[in-house]
Amino acid sequence: MNLAAGTVDRALSLILELCATPSPTGFTKSAEAFLETAIAAAGFTPQRTRKGSVYACLGGQGHPLVLAAHVDTLGAVVRSIKGNGRLRYSKVGGYPDLNLVAQTCLIHTREGKTFSGTFQPVDASSHVNPKLKELKPDDENLEILVDERTRSREETLALGISPGDMVSLDARPVLTQSGFLKSRHLDDKASAGILLALAGLAGTKDLILGREVFLLFTTYEEVGHGGAVVPAEVEEFLSVDMGAVGDDLGCDEYKVSICAKDSNGPYDWDMTNALKQAATRAGCDYAVDIYPSYGSDAGAALFSGHDLRHGLVGPGVYASHGYERTHRDAIANTLALLAEYVSRAPDL
Ligand SMILES: [Zn+2]
Repeated sequence: MNLAAGTVDRALSLILELCATPSPTGFTKSAEAFLETAIAAAGFTPQRTRKGSVYACLGGQGHPLVLAAHVDTLGAVVRSIKGNGRLRYSKVGGYPDLNLVAQTCLIHTREGKTFSGTFQPVDASSHVNPKLKELKPDDENLEILVDERTRSREETLALGISPGDMVSLDARPVLTQSGFLKSRHLDDKASAGILLALAGLAGTKDLILGREVFLLFTTYEEVGHGGAVVPAEVEEFLSVDMGAVGDDLGCDEYKVSICAKDSNGPYDWDMTNALKQAATRAGCDYAVDIYPSYGSDAGAALFSGHDLRHGLVGPGVYASHGYERTHRDAIANTLALLAEYVSRAPDL
């Protein structure tokens, strides 16, 4: 499968824009608006569910398939304001607090104000606190410093910051000359950008669909129920979500990963076989792996009672749920696999 020229670059620029759009789970309206604009620009009609998923039908006939990526990300909520005016936090999504040390962030208040800040260890000056190197990063030993002149709880409250306000983590998206894409939240904005680029191909008829295809962008994946609402009666639900990279896994930052089993059990036998065959036909560099600590929107769809075949593919991403990294080759391989997969009806 040869993709139209510029498709991978288009995906990369969409990914960079999405990564720069704050969207921790529960605070995803800017990302939803971005998706709607991009879907309309590709020539399709975006729709939004009540809980904020954005979806669109790309056309095609028969054997309806949904391709799902999530645009919600890890983040935090303001838990309380300390006596010294700094913030305690409560994490949104599952990740080690280690990944928050020196992380810059934005605090989004319910009145629409935005403040910058940084997650720092308590007593963070290493010239003053010799015990810093023994620090166990957790929500008691880390705090958020707001970049405002506040030294008390009252002063921070007077700024307009309150418990329950949302905290987004600065993604710091970078594309290097050597083709590496580094950013927080490549999980799963890398896949969302890939799906938008795929919509662009369908819109210009550079991709002819062999079946009916829906795109679904969910907003509650990191807390487990993003895929619970499926917008149409579909036969297959393909989660497009990052491929895990690490010890004893075959995937790396250049490949597309096909997941055969995650924490919720095996993926559909026939669909996973068909994905593997599509990857081979398209000449993709790919790996079939199992992920011991992973759940996807496809699992959420099944647990919600939908009767469908499910699969999971995505670009290999290293340092997941931290400052993540992938390569343009993984984006290209994922695009090629998806383009091949949607171009044929299932052979059942
Ligand atoms: Zn994900």
